[in-house]
Amino acid sequence: MSRILVFVEHTAGEAERLSLEALVLAGSLTAATGGAVEAILVGPGAAEAGIGLGVHGVRTAHVVADDRLGSYAPAAWAAAIAELIEARSPVAVIAGGSDRGNEVLAHVAARTGRPMAANVVDVSVGDPWRLTRQRWAGSLLEDAQFDADVHLLTVAPHVIPVDESAVGPVGAPAIAISPYAPTVRDRDLVGRVTGREAPDVGAISLAEAKVVVGGGRGVGSAEAFATLEELAGLLGGAVGGSRVVTSAGWRPHSDQIGQTGLRIAPDLYVACGISGAIQHIVGCKAAKRILAINTDPDSPIMGVADYAVIGDLHQVVPAITAEIRRRAAGRPPRPTMEVTRSTPPGREPG
Ligand SMILES: Cc1cc2nc3c(=O)[nH]c(=O)nc-3n(C[C@H](O)[C@H](O)[C@H](O)COP(=O)(O)OP(=O)(O)OC[C@H]3O[C@@H](n4cnc5c(N)ncnc54)[C@H](O)[C@@H]3O)c2cc1C
Repeated sequence: MSRILVFVEHTAGEAERLSLEALVLAGSLTAATGGAVEAILVGPGAAEAGIGLGVHGVRTAHVVADDRLGSYAPAAWAAAIAELIEARSPVAVIAGGSDRGNEVLAHVAARTGRPMAANVVDVSVGDPWRLTRQRWAGSLLEDAQFDADVHLLTVAPHVIPVDESAVGPVGAPAIAISPYAPTVRDRDLVGRVTGREAPDVGAISLAEAKVVVGGGRGVGSAEAFATLEELAGLLGGAVGGSRVVTSAGWRPHSDQIGQTGLRIAPDLYVACGISGAIQHIVGCKAAKRILAINTDPDSPIMGVADYAVIGDLHQVVPAITAEIRRRAAGRPPRPTMEVTRSTPPGREPG
């Protein structure tokens, strides 16, 4: 049987969305080959999260039962997966395209001497397997041949659709929870998370927000982000930024959107004073709608924006905020500026 193992990350007893994307890919591959999808989960709440995976096509969840692996330790978690590869002989191990998914699978690859492919968007099973994967921050798609006895791969984030409210068919087989205790060597625990400090993220996290107001170099200072905070607050959203603003210390690194930051998928992304470098766009291109506010009509962000306001954000953002407040107070709108509509290729007019 062509078994596929999926490394499932979880929080508070629920699988992370990017891991569900990995399960969707694994499910489509086993549907073609007749195999089974098995999950591997590590850390507190693993068994609880494993039980919930039945509706996502998993029949067996291997739950690591060793408290020393309770906090994130990439080399030790990889060792646990490597041991499971020996025991279960899967044709593939798949992880979500998160920092952890990529890091842990890279450790598995190094430890077992196998190749690993990151940011995969499509797989064609054959001899050898053929993959399509994102390169250059998603601006290129590469067709590759993947010749390995166990295919280690991560899934490009937010490319594969997931039904997060999936409910299993009536009478679906129950999931088997299989605890196992891997061999843990002290040297694999040298790099591990020893404590956590909660960032001051406000009520809504950037990763989950339905509206994100992003600021770039054009915002000009840490203090000037107050107007973006105000707009985000009115829209029930969160504030993020480009790498320029996190490098300048105007915002914490956890607010960075892009290739080396967060990848967001809000309903609306308001990009203020952001030029739209490819490394930034890769982090926001899953947004359903992008509104760009920029003084430069030729900035690259215009190529991906659904709507654009050409103007100084220090005037435009307060004007939008004032308009929202006016409407909320039941007063008639007073349009004060010209809004340019642009629909980039590949986006539906809204
Ligand atoms: C390996 C690598 C990884 C990277 N990872 C990331 C990443 O994760 N995230 C990321 O964002 N970048 C990343 N970068 C950096 C990226 O290449 C860009 O340098 C960065 O995104 C630019 O940030 P910016 O748009 O804020 O600044 P700029 O490119 O300087 O753009 C500023 C924009 O503001 C506009 N503007 C200026 N004043 C105003 C005003 N008053 N009102 C309105 N508009 C105004 C300008 O017209 C301009 O378009 C990475 C780069 C590398 C090499």
